[in-house]
Amino acid sequence: MTTTTVEKPERKQGMYEVVMEQFAHAADIMDLDPGVRKILATTNTEIVVHFPVRLDSGKIEVFTGYRVQHNNALGPYKGGLRYHETVDIDAARALAIWMTWKTALAGLPFGGAKGGIQLNPKEYSMGELERITRRFTYSLGDNIGPDLDIPAPDINTNAQIMAWIADTFSSTKSPATRFGNLHVVTGKPMGAGGLEGRDRATGFGVVATLKSWSARRKKPLKGMRYIVQGFGNVGYWTSHFLQKEGATLIAVQDATATLHNANGIDIEALLAHSDASGRNIKGFSGAKEMEPKEFFALDCDIVVPAALGNQINGENAGGIKAMVVAEGANGPTNTEGERVLREKNIDIIPDILCNSGGVIGSYFEWLQNKRSEIWKIEEVLEMLQEKMDDAFTKVADTAAEFKVDWRTSAYIVALRRLEKTYKERGIFP
Ligand code: NAD
Repeated sequence: MTTTTVEKPERKQGMYEVVMEQFAHAADIMDLDPGVRKILATTNTEIVVHFPVRLDSGKIEVFTGYRVQHNNALGPYKGGLRYHETVDIDAARALAIWMTWKTALAGLPFGGAKGGIQLNPKEYSMGELERITRRFTYSLGDNIGPDLDIPAPDINTNAQIMAWIADTFSSTKSPATRFGNLHVVTGKPMGAGGLEGRDRATGFGVVATLKSWSARRKKPLKGMRYIVQGFGNVGYWTSHFLQKEGATLIAVQDATATLHNANGIDIEALLAHSDASGRNIKGFSGAKEMEPKEFFALDCDIVVPAALGNQINGENAGGIKAMVVAEGANGPTNTEGERVLREKNIDIIPDILCNSGGVIGSYFEWLQNKRSEIWKIEEVLEMLQEKMDDAFTKVADTAAEFKVDWRTSAYIVALRRLEKTYKERGIFP
């Protein structure tokens, strides 16, 4: 008898597995209450909606949208909506769980959620995207709301999309409650109830954590060279604020190209180019295109992943030469990537701390709308800086207390707060 061995393709670790491994590791170390552990290992609600939209051609297409609400022990669910081909129930679950840890760590009165639509927005016109967004909002119905679940921008969604969501949601309610529903989403444009400074809040926060890292390690940011993956909201604003600290952007990668210039890339010129070319960096004359695979191995001091999840992994982590990885993206480092970075003594500023400026800015916008106020950018950035510094200090102190890395200590700070809430409040009935 002859036997044929069929080689199984290697299965890639998904973001959901990564977040659950991180959770289990921290829960073991801090000895999390077993009941609370069970609750937090599960998502509260998972919503999948299929909805039709008429395209410009007259044809009808049916889209699939997701919203996963992980936990609301600390307050209304909060988290972004992503428009991308990789959006599915597992990705939404993982990202919702990270949001629960992030809001708990930042000391906000929010829980965690995430969602989106599986599509490539570049394939649709503005009119189509507006109809898709409005119909998705309508399909979610009363599963979102200013005191229930408050979406925000994420990959490929922006202030305009948030304005359409707010308008659609409010338009389906009684006119008398219209302005009481403005804060159903955050990250809105200024004319539609947005907060001055929310656009830059995530990048500002990434750099706030790098400043804290630099002070602790006694390594000045001035003169450092950094590389950034993703040149969208987070990638651009992080580059902008790091440059203000005297550091130099030497390489940047997006979905279309990988660019390198050892003498430094002009960030504002790159933004102008990207804006003019449909948010693509390809074709920018101020840097040379290079092989994408060699990006993370470039000689530099700081790596900022600010695009998709699982980008730093067993295949490329060994090549990283930087002193620190500042996780602007959610879940950019998988378990094997993290193990390799630790072996090489490379610091990791974990996503739930590093990119929490976004949700903190969203909290300010939510409060501003709730109180019918209009806040100034100076006060917003000052309050943001203070919250980021507080969170960093808590993470560093807890790391020293438990003798663990910063990711584990960030989890412990978040899980302690959730555990205390459950213990004090009890479980209904
Ligand atoms: P964005 O849509 O504005 O930008 C995404 C960028 O990633 C684009 O430049 C895109 O070209 C690039 N990209 C996509 N696929 C890529 C690939 N395969 N290789 C390299 N680059 C690729 O999105 P954003 O809002 O800047 O979000 C980026 C990351 O930051 C996401 O992980 C998001 O969850 C996280 N985040 C965003 C916020 C926020 O306030 N926007 C807050 C916290 C965390």
